[in-house]
Amino acid sequence: MNETKKTRKTGTEELPLMQKIVALCKRRGFVFQSSEIYGGLKSAYDYGPLGAELKRNIMAEWWRTMVHEREDVVGIDASIIMSPKVWEASGHVSGFADPLVDCLVCRARFRADKAPQVSPGETVEYRKEGKTIKGVAERGYVCPECGAVELSEERQFNLMFKTNLGPIDSDDNTVYLRPETAQAMFVNFLNVQQTYRLKPPFGIAQQGKSFRNEITVEHFIFRSCEFEQMEMEYFCPPEEAPQWLDYWKDERFDWYIRLGVKKENLRLRPHDPDELAHYADACYDIEYRYPWGWDELEGIANRTDYDLAQHQAASGKKLTYFDPQRVNPDTGKPGMHYLPYVVEPAAGATRAVLMFLVDAYEEEPPSEGRPDGRVVLRLHPRLAPIKVAVLPLVKKDEWLTGKSRELVKAFWRNSINAFYDEKDAIGRRYARQDEAGTPFCITVDAQTREDGTVTLRTRDDMQQERIPLEDAVDIINRKIRDS
Ligand code: ATP
Repeated sequence: MNETKKTRKTGTEELPLMQKIVALCKRRGFVFQSSEIYGGLKSAYDYGPLGAELKRNIMAEWWRTMVHEREDVVGIDASIIMSPKVWEASGHVSGFADPLVDCLVCRARFRADKAPQVSPGETVEYRKEGKTIKGVAERGYVCPECGAVELSEERQFNLMFKTNLGPIDSDDNTVYLRPETAQAMFVNFLNVQQTYRLKPPFGIAQQGKSFRNEITVEHFIFRSCEFEQMEMEYFCPPEEAPQWLDYWKDERFDWYIRLGVKKENLRLRPHDPDELAHYADACYDIEYRYPWGWDELEGIANRTDYDLAQHQAASGKKLTYFDPQRVNPDTGKPGMHYLPYVVEPAAGATRAVLMFLVDAYEEEPPSEGRPDGRVVLRLHPRLAPIKVAVLPLVKKDEWLTGKSRELVKAFWRNSINAFYDEKDAIGRRYARQDEAGTPFCITVDAQTREDGTVTLRTRDDMQQERIPLEDAVDIINRKIRDS
């Protein structure tokens, strides 16, 4: 992103892009601070009229391409509160409930109370960037993976939000708000496979809220404690996992490009072996160039059979898939039970809202007829909260307002979110729609009465053309569908 181009002069100072995005979100009703009249709640956000539409559209596009338009993926909608045994088996309870320390050298995350003990002040040796280093163990322990003493602060917290199921607040009925949607797909693996008679490779997808008691909340809605995810677990024969990882990383990258994200602002970054999560064999991050630099948008990981194996062991229920054709290496005959491997594209829906807003935001310099320039959100038509604004040129002319309202209703009947606006001069109304990301405006004016045509104005190039009023719905429908 071109940071210089994306700053606006306000008097003598230039506002950084993020500040302008946050201000636009509040001014136009995309995102509000939660509980604002009480001073706001840290890390909690409310999506206003435009933001709710944008988020729904992003999630609907994901569902359309990931579930509806594929034979090999089905969707579920599981509960946020699951048995606490799920989180014990997945490693979330033990992994996040103790004094946590991050190794600054090899990035291992570990419990301080389980780390190898050494005498405080002892000099230890470890490897860093290919060299042997000497360090003083001030804490009395070292990294269990690489022996380093370069460690983060200890953090006493559990990433998962705890609550109680039922009226009594006791350890017996502790439950957690899910920190990821993925686990529901693992524990429902056989339910879904059997009811749908699915044969690997196939995927189970889910969207919904997840909760993490993040130590640092940052960058507006980029990292919050309550957020929304779009995840898909793709179950495949173990030997096919590398090829599916390759496939999904490209497919997910292309999804953003197809929705108009600028290619130069996106990149795929393979994880180094030392930054892989404990369950992952290989992983790519799709990173976006946010105003603060490259950062994660989505992760695509080969989770191996880690999760199914954990749940199989903890529940005592067999979670293997029986493939009648696969030759069992032990018997040499067809018919084999195996635990599939899982490739997971895991995207953040609320994080995607921020990314699409940042990528679409543009300030155009003053031009002829637009002495103030304009702020325009070049959102992809499929994502735009309002698809078309219908504007009677003159508010006092009942024929114009009546025709405009009829047209709005015709759009609604065709599931196109149209917006009626009669307030202020036409130029200001266009400007409001540009800032809201509305790709099309239709103006009904005196000529409509004469020849049945209306003005269609396109957001991106501000070109205007006359089209027949009676074709307006079809034309807009086609433009959105083909975009
Ligand atoms: P990060 O490194 O940014 O903390 P992560 O690697 O822990 O993310 P995953 O567990 O892979 O994230 O979750 C998948 C996706 O969910 C992330 O790519 C991100 O888009 C989204 N996500 C995760 N945590 C948050 C959060 N606290 N707020 C908003 N979105 C989040």
